[in-house]
Amino acid sequence: MTSAAHTAPANEQTYDVHRIKADFPILAQQVHGHPLVYLDNAATTQKPRAVISALEHYYAADNANIHRGVHELSGRATKQYEEARAAVRAFLNAADDREIIFVRGATEGINLVADSFGRSFRAGDEIIVSTMEHHSNIVPWQMLCERSGAVLKVVPIDDDGEFLMDEYEKLLSPRTRMVGIVHQSNSLGTVNPVKETIARAHAAGARVLVDGAQAAPHQRLDVRALDTDFYVLSGHKMYGPTGIGVLYGKRELLESMPPYQGGGDMILSVSFEKTVYNKLPYKFEAGTPHIAGPIGLKAAIDYMQAVGLERIAAHEHELLAYGCELLAEIPGLRMIGTAAVRSSVLSFVLEGIHPHDIGTILDREGIAIRTGHHCAQPVMARYGVPATARASLAMYNSRSDVEALARGLRKTIEVFS
Ligand SMILES: *Cc1c(COP(=O)(O)O)cnc(C)c1O
Repeated sequence: MTSAAHTAPANEQTYDVHRIKADFPILAQQVHGHPLVYLDNAATTQKPRAVISALEHYYAADNANIHRGVHELSGRATKQYEEARAAVRAFLNAADDREIIFVRGATEGINLVADSFGRSFRAGDEIIVSTMEHHSNIVPWQMLCERSGAVLKVVPIDDDGEFLMDEYEKLLSPRTRMVGIVHQSNSLGTVNPVKETIARAHAAGARVLVDGAQAAPHQRLDVRALDTDFYVLSGHKMYGPTGIGVLYGKRELLESMPPYQGGGDMILSVSFEKTVYNKLPYKFEAGTPHIAGPIGLKAAIDYMQAVGLERIAAHEHELLAYGCELLAEIPGLRMIGTAAVRSSVLSFVLEGIHPHDIGTILDREGIAIRTGHHCAQPVMARYGVPATARASLAMYNSRSDVEALARGLRKTIEVFS
């Protein structure tokens, strides 16, 4: 968690960013004749050698289907898959391994909750989300509203991109069944006061799903301290593989929910008269899962913990403040997203230059940023822009990366003047 307004003391002596960068083989390459400067981390992060090796080792030595084989390889694969579940449980500070469901990503986690938990929603029930949600925390709820007749309510944000707690309070009512809120916005960088959001929802009798896809790589998480009902994250946003994510849910809620998908592994017994569903967490893991995914995700968590979650956050905090200083000096640049508490995202527009053109010119300099609506079109509408340019930071980015960005932006302005 970081406040852009506050400049932290330099910690690059104690935090060896160049050594960390050297652990990520992909970052060593040249792009269009320039050293790659990768600043598209909110879209996906690169993988350290430890993650790549874990995947390779699994396929080269231990690959087998899990949970049913009596043979050695199946035992090893099962052990590693379940050890990964325990690692995720510890990473989230959840109480019980059975509360950790492996899914494809944050998107699937939210769809699972909307489909399964939402099955009891009826006409007149209400669901609240914020304006700054990623499409994946909007559309599944809209689909649930279509199916059930429930109504979607939206919490506005202010000009800085802050969640308006008073407006939220006004929307809460005995009709509220679910609140969906992003922990850290991918388009603005805003870190939301989720603990208070959750407490207020619970006081109104509603449940809460927190979208932690962006928070997971940038701050220490604690689902019990938050008292959240559901929490989702994506492995690929936190240095792990694509195609693997996590749904955390409180055990009593998951116990009460019907299965999301049917198939192998999610049953105890099947007959045409009566099928008995498996216990948690397997009830929600139908079919052969992405076994290597959790194994790679555990390697990513181990790597982050070896570097130190607090040290990563402090480094990124300092880098964001430095980036803000450099971008503030660029003529015609307007930051989109200036919340007091934010992290790792520099979203901006340049007067008279389309974000797509910014991205294209930076690419020629070997600098990778994101341009577009960042799967958050309501945020773009709120600011009256069709798109922004977004540079997003990760643990391996250095001061020289944000300096390259600032140089590239000056060059872009020259090209268009
Ligand atoms: C990336 C992202 C998602 C969706 O994650 P997938 O990996 O595409 O399922 C949801 N919310 C936020 C805030 C994100 O950044």
